Amino acid sequence: MLFTSYIELSKSALNNNIQYLKKKAGPGTRYSLVVKANAYGHGIEDLLPMVEACGVDHVSVFSLEEARRALEIKKQACDLMIMGFVDNDHLEWVIENDISFFIFTKERLDAVCKVASTTTKPARIHVEMETGMHRTGFPESTLEYVANKLLENKENIYLEGLCTHFAGAESMENFERVNNQIKNFNRLCSWFNKEKGLIPKYRHVACSAGVLNFPDSSMDMVRVGISSYGFWPNNETRMLHFRNSGFSEDPLHQVLSWKSRVMSVNHVDEDEYVSYGKSYLTNRKSKIATVPVGYGYGFSRNLSNMGHVLINGKRVSVVGAVNMNMMVVDVTDLPDVKVDDEVVLIGKQGDKSITVSSFSDMNNSMNYELLTRLPQPIPRFEVD
Ligand SMILES: *Cc1c(COP(=O)(O)O)cnc(C)c1O
Repeated sequence: MLFTSYIELSKSALNNNIQYLKKKAGPGTRYSLVVKANAYGHGIEDLLPMVEACGVDHVSVFSLEEARRALEIKKQACDLMIMGFVDNDHLEWVIENDISFFIFTKERLDAVCKVASTTTKPARIHVEMETGMHRTGFPESTLEYVANKLLENKENIYLEGLCTHFAGAESMENFERVNNQIKNFNRLCSWFNKEKGLIPKYRHVACSAGVLNFPDSSMDMVRVGISSYGFWPNNETRMLHFRNSGFSEDPLHQVLSWKSRVMSVNHVDEDEYVSYGKSYLTNRKSKIATVPVGYGYGFSRNLSNMGHVLINGKRVSVVGAVNMNMMVVDVTDLPDVKVDDEVVLIGKQGDKSITVSSFSDMNNSMNYELLTRLPQPIPRFEVD
C-alpha cells in the first residue's frame, strides 16, 4: 500500500440515495447532483462515473477548475452547471463547452452578452435572484435591466434557468425565512414570462434540506449535494424527516468509508505519558497501536483524546494528541490486534460503525466540513 489510508465508495449506497431523493423531488423534476469541493471529498473523478451509472444526467460544480475536471470525465449526455465562480476571461471556454452557469451581477451579464455574440454556441445562463439570503443574486430592482438585456441578446443567450439559494433550510429556526424565500422567488419569476418572450426552462431552488423537508421547493430541477452521498445536512433535518415520514430506518446510506491499517503495536507501563505532551497518562499497563493518519491527512487535531476508530470489530479511543502523520489508539482490550489489521476511521466494521456525524458532533464541525477536508490524493475504490 503506497498511501497510508484509502476510501471506499459504495455503488449500492449511492444508487439507494439517488433513487430515494429523486422520488422525493417528484416525477418530472431534473436531478442535478452537486459535485463541488471534490464531490464533497468523495473524489470527483471516481464519483462522477458512478453517478452517471445511477442514471443521473446533470451535475453541478462551484468553480471553473471543478468544471474543467468534471468535463474531462463526464459523458456527453451529462449536463454540467457552474453555480459560482467564473472568470470573465474563461467565459468563452465555458460557452463553447456547452456548460451552463449562474449569473448574479450586471457586470457578468454584460460580459456574457459581449462574449456570446462571438461564440459559435449560445450562452446557457441561470439567473440567480436575491430572495433573502443576501449573498449572491440579482435584487428585484435590477430585474427589469436583466430582462431587457436578455431580450436584446436573445439570439446569443439562452435563459435556461431561474434560481435562488436558501439561507439555511436545514434549521427550523430559518423556517419562516426559507418559506419567504420561496414566496419571493415565485413572485420574482414573473419578470420572466411568456408575454415578454422569456421562458426559463428550469426554475430551481432546492438543496438537500429543501428536497427532504420543503416539498414546495422541488420545482423543475433540484440541486442535491450532501444527501446524495448519504449524509444528512444536520441532525435536525434528519429528525424532522424521520418524524414526517414515520421512518425507523435511515433511508440514506453512506457512500464513503475511510480506512487505514495498524502500523505498529507497543506496550506501555502504567503512569506513562503517551505521544507529544502530557495530555494522556496511562492508568494501567497498556497496549497502544499507531495508525498512520493524522491531521495532515484529514483527521482533525480536535479529535485528540476524543476520536474513535474501529479495529477487530471493536470501538477504540484515540489517546493523546493527533499528530501530523499519525494517531495513537488504546488497544489494551484487543487481545489479537496486530500490524496490518484494518482500521476504520469512517464506516462499518462488523456490527459497529463510525459515522461522520458522530465524528463531527464531537468536534463541532458539520458533515460538510469534515468530508471536504478529506485529502484529494487518497486513493478511492468503488465497491458494491
Ligand atoms: C452546495 C449547494 C447546493 C447543495 O447543497 P446541499 O445542502 O449539499 O444539498 C445547492 N445549491 C447551491 C447553490 C450550492 O452552493
